[in-house]
Amino acid sequence: MSESISTVAYIAASALFILSLGGLSNQESSQKGNLFGILGMLVAFVATALRNDVSGYGVLAAAIVPGAMIGAILAARVAMTEMPELVAMLHSFVGMAAVLVGIGNYLSPQSLTGVEATIHEIEIFIGVFIGAITFTGSIVAFGKLRGLLSSKPLMLPARHFLNLAMLGACAWLGFQFMNGTGLQPLLVMTAIAALLGIHLVMGIGGADMPVVISMLNSYSGWAAAAAGFMLSNDLLIITGALVGSSGAILSYIMCKAMNRSFISVILGGFGATGSSATKSSELVGEAKSITVESTVELLENAKSVIIVPGYGMAVAQAQHPIAEITKELRDQGIQVRFGIHPVAGRLPGHMNVLLAEANVPYDIVLEMDEINEDFPETDVVLVIGANDTVNPSAMEDPSSPIAGMPVLEVWKAKTVIVMKRSMASGYAGVENPLFYKDNAQMLFGDARKNADAIVGQLSAAIAR
Ligand code: NDP
Repeated sequence: MSESISTVAYIAASALFILSLGGLSNQESSQKGNLFGILGMLVAFVATALRNDVSGYGVLAAAIVPGAMIGAILAARVAMTEMPELVAMLHSFVGMAAVLVGIGNYLSPQSLTGVEATIHEIEIFIGVFIGAITFTGSIVAFGKLRGLLSSKPLMLPARHFLNLAMLGACAWLGFQFMNGTGLQPLLVMTAIAALLGIHLVMGIGGADMPVVISMLNSYSGWAAAAAGFMLSNDLLIITGALVGSSGAILSYIMCKAMNRSFISVILGGFGATGSSATKSSELVGEAKSITVESTVELLENAKSVIIVPGYGMAVAQAQHPIAEITKELRDQGIQVRFGIHPVAGRLPGHMNVLLAEANVPYDIVLEMDEINEDFPETDVVLVIGANDTVNPSAMEDPSSPIAGMPVLEVWKAKTVIVMKRSMASGYAGVENPLFYKDNAQMLFGDARKNADAIVGQLSAAIAR
């Protein structure tokens, strides 16, 4: 393919990626956005494979065909609840690719001299540095999301000093590398940056994990952009910059939603005190349980209902019966709305995706800021598998690990029904005083089974 055709194809792919981002910013247009993204990737892929400087199609096919097959099988099999883990894993691949491209690029002879050679070396060093941090950081994030590693922050005594020392060592190795001492400083820096990635993410506690995921998303974008510089591939630079900056913006939005300082989170919980979870002994009152029958009765006698879903709804796959409950109640003239916390679930927009899948109308799915003031005028709040995002200790207990995080103030409603299997805490490992409030009642059991039972009884009541 001639140079000019490949340039046109790259511009078209870049435009499609930008259209894709635009589409993904809204639920109604998200499917179109996805399509633009797929099309852009296809154009980019074909244009790159057909470039004049690409040869050795046998090797290319040997890498791409099995890779595409493994990717397709894994993506088809992954459950919605495992999506965040898959995303974390994919970020780690981008990081690893940047490291391998950087080292490979250094080892392959280049005919650059003077300033150009220096710039190329800087590109390699920075690309490998970001790549190594992204690679190991994403693996630790994967472990934390999957529950293989504790979600509690690792608080080593001199952790900030350690981070600084590792950063200093990398900078020193950078100077050595630029002075032409060869591969060794690059490899040592890769090892140190890999350790830094592990330590940074290990230092971040459960409740801050959403920011880590979007931050690693951003890092993976910058790692790709760095690889683009190394390979002189404009499209990779543009795509990397798009992912890098949108990930950074998302991290900022998440930090704002959680009332956390962006800098403190990216520095591995800088300023975190490491205070432990609220002890049960500090909780006052007694948790009361409720039956499906009484839940149905309360719902039928309500004028307004707010449903607050969380990670447990995703685990139980309860969105379909929840959508049916919504329909039944709305058919009876009861106002039903959804309250969505920005970090509910394990992925930005997790709840919105599930509710859209179950065909819940978009206009009754409201963000936390849009609905938080309406709880005092609400008769029944149905909390489905949400925990940290409805925890009053975030507002009432300054020593709580989630103190200061805005939450859905469900306890202000007349009655709160919490659907979950036990009294266990949520992802952040913090006890929840909501369960002990006078107006709260626990509907214990799997959210799907209980939601199905509620649908059954609501339909039976209507049939009578
Ligand atoms: P939580 O993780 O706080 O709580 C989920 C609750 O669901 C659990 O307490 C569990 O209780 C219950 N549950 C699990 N399975 C079932 C089931 N089958 N049926 C009924 N209940 C079930 O959820 P939230 O959505 O409120 O909060 C999200 C948390 O995840 C926050 O701490 C957030 O910071 C973090 N996070 C969010 C990310 C994001 O991007 N959104 C990314 C990474 C972390 P029980 O075991 O008793 O049933």
